[in-house]
Amino acid sequence: MTRLPDLGLPPEIPQSALTTALALLESGRLHRYAEAGGTGGLVAELERSFARLMGRRYAVAVNSCGSSLFLALKAAGVRHGDPVLMNAFTLGPVPGALDHAGAKPVLVEITEDLTIDFADLRRKAEASGAKVLMLSHMRGHLCDLSALQALCCELGLTLIEDCAHTLGASWAGQQAGTFGIAGCFSFQSGKHVNTGEGGMLVTDDADIAAQAILHSGSYMLYAQNGTPPPQEVMDRWQGRCGNYSMRMSALVAALALPQLPLLPERVADWNASHDRIAARLAQEEGFVLPHRPQAEAYAQSSLQFRLPERSFAQMRAFVEAARAASVWVKWFGTEVPEGYSSNPRHWHGARAEEVPRACEVQATLCDIRLPLGLTAQECDAVSDTLIRAAQTPWEARHATA
Ligand SMILES: *Cc1c(COP(=O)(O)O)cnc(C)c1O
Repeated sequence: MTRLPDLGLPPEIPQSALTTALALLESGRLHRYAEAGGTGGLVAELERSFARLMGRRYAVAVNSCGSSLFLALKAAGVRHGDPVLMNAFTLGPVPGALDHAGAKPVLVEITEDLTIDFADLRRKAEASGAKVLMLSHMRGHLCDLSALQALCCELGLTLIEDCAHTLGASWAGQQAGTFGIAGCFSFQSGKHVNTGEGGMLVTDDADIAAQAILHSGSYMLYAQNGTPPPQEVMDRWQGRCGNYSMRMSALVAALALPQLPLLPERVADWNASHDRIAARLAQEEGFVLPHRPQAEAYAQSSLQFRLPERSFAQMRAFVEAARAASVWVKWFGTEVPEGYSSNPRHWHGARAEEVPRACEVQATLCDIRLPLGLTAQECDAVSDTLIRAAQTPWEARHATA
């Protein structure tokens, strides 16, 4: 029998990154700015590379995606007490960024395909008067972004994209993260580029970039940023933006830089594993896989499925059986958050009763991480384990529990 892979394995750090990182450590110059004769170093180089990769004018490197989400909200003009719309399926750092900015979350329903519900978005936008939508492409699932852009335009909404799971993904040929006023990316170990922690904000808007740079904590050294906005724009914001100390360290940039060219091969690897396991599970009675539209090119480093016929106890039995067989299944319907929090019932300041459908979808939703480099046999072993876990008679397990 094929050995089950370690689903928690993070993407490998390339050898060239280790060499650069070691030289950097030996130099001691880990801060992104230099007071005398600084040229921006590796962080500025990463910003230029990332802006080029995304086809945006500006990229601002920060210490996490959560920080970039917060900076995007601040730069978009969100002030204490303002309502901000957000889809009810995302990770804790997203409602956390709203909380950080003092915004009031207005939760929006999701569909069974795990994307934002447009009818509910319209309703909630009109009822709340919110001017900003924080859209999380949670677990890499893209809604119809062309239609969403039109809807935001009609409703007068500024769109911010949380792209923690969509680096390398696109809708109708346009990259996720370029549909709104700002796109926010994560370099946390569980995402597409692994630096431990790290984040990036991209935008075409010079005022957003200037505020993000100043708020991130550039002192008076912002000219060393990789993609600085024109001086007159910086002058407009200088002295009006508090320093929140959210800079990226040079060490993080050293680790990230050589991973960017690897993205296409990583995405192909992830998608091959995803598609193989998804195709297998979709044929299995009881498993429902989200529909993926033709216009969506995903970068799927994890896999989601639902077991919609199951009760709470039956879900728990499935998850326990899979974990006992060494496949670490995450379940979005637990009553208390386990290890992460993606359920509106667990977010500070959010009102889960506003999104009963999202709670219902998440009640039977599961997830597995996909490490890079899975063989076809390993994918099949994972599928077999999940299928067997679903066949475990739950009544028998509970009788003995
Ligand atoms: C990981 C993640 C974030 C935040 O990333 P950090 O870099 O850890 O702050 C935001 N949104 C989603 C959906 C995530 O999974």
